[in-house]
Amino acid sequence: MESIKKLYKIGNGPSSSHTMAPKKAAVIFRDKNPEAYSFKAHLYGSLALTGVGHLTDVAIKNAFDNQCEIVWHFNEKLPLHTNGMLFEAFDKNSKLINSWEVYSVGGGELMDIENKVKPQHIYPHTNMADILHHLEDFGGTLWEYAFRNDDTDLTDYLKEVWVAMKKSINRGLNTEGTLPGGLKLLRKAYSYYFKARMQNQFVQNDSFIFAYALAVSEENAAGNIVVTAPTCGSSGILPSVLYFFHNEKGVKEDAIIRALATAGLVGNIVKQNASISGAEVGCQGEVGVASAMAAAAATQLAGGTIYQIEYAASSALEHHLGMTCDPIAGLVQIPCIERNAFGAQRAIDSALYAINSDGRHYVMFDQVVEAMKQTGKDIPSLYKETALGGLAKVFSDRNLNEKKSP
Ligand code: SF4
Repeated sequence: MESIKKLYKIGNGPSSSHTMAPKKAAVIFRDKNPEAYSFKAHLYGSLALTGVGHLTDVAIKNAFDNQCEIVWHFNEKLPLHTNGMLFEAFDKNSKLINSWEVYSVGGGELMDIENKVKPQHIYPHTNMADILHHLEDFGGTLWEYAFRNDDTDLTDYLKEVWVAMKKSINRGLNTEGTLPGGLKLLRKAYSYYFKARMQNQFVQNDSFIFAYALAVSEENAAGNIVVTAPTCGSSGILPSVLYFFHNEKGVKEDAIIRALATAGLVGNIVKQNASISGAEVGCQGEVGVASAMAAAAATQLAGGTIYQIEYAASSALEHHLGMTCDPIAGLVQIPCIERNAFGAQRAIDSALYAINSDGRHYVMFDQVVEAMKQTGKDIPSLYKETALGGLAKVFSDRNLNEKKSP
């Protein structure tokens, strides 16, 4: 597994796979071709189908100072992944001087045939079962395991991540108005937070969690800075749960940093063994994984054992299996924003459920990850970030019909 630092990326939304990674690829290609006069970026598969809503073209053009033509290939895919890109560089005579086929594989990560962007595996284990066996033999907790094996500056990096998460919550809670993109969707975080403060404790906890998740997800939808956890589309869930423990339950920042490490480990296991790309496995790989990460963090913060943490993570992911990705108009807004609020609440519920148990259960986290991968393969591409099926289709059909009716 790679460093947890690669999972948590601080950057502009709304999509790690459709804005962050394409922009990163564009910058790499631009810097490799300083003599080029002009560029073309060909976008395939899901990148083409939801690229406008996800601002993929804007991100790429920005990287090239607008000296780049975007070519949309709506009905074609490149061989390795649905999020394919082909960059071309031209000289003054429009002669092709270089090209690069590269893929955005989820969470802001890139992959190419020549392995120019190689993953650096630094962990000795690749799944939860092996990590738990190692901890049984040698002692320790999941967060200690992460700090023992990851880069030495992990603590400092996670502190930066936590600051970025808190900023995104505070900006989101203090911003009102309409989100960009044409759906005319109003931000809700401020009003949810205000109402939460007025409510009695019986319902207040859920309301705070909703408000914090909405705050980050609305910031993401507005293209502002968030942390991929594990993706931009699902970036509201983990910060919401951590902030709830910090702000409402008085948990200290050091404990939050340790919870970020454990949550990162959970996300990394899925990234290594399945996928965190909505275009590859649907929303179960984004919101489902984020919920599992947050459930693990919450269980640790509530004093759970390593077995209860594993149970909470597997339960949160298991109950998101099969969740499709069908963003209306290709925007990371509906169902994404509300889905983050419910994903955060399910994380807390999973933590409570695991803590009430003795940690023993039947379906282990690694098996749920395997099931998620297989389910993701079996889900038709209509439901994997193409905006061609599900809510996206029903909504666009309804709008067309309404326009046709007298
Ligand atoms: S539906 Fe889920 S996977 Fe799809 S864009 Fe929204 S958050 Fe991402």
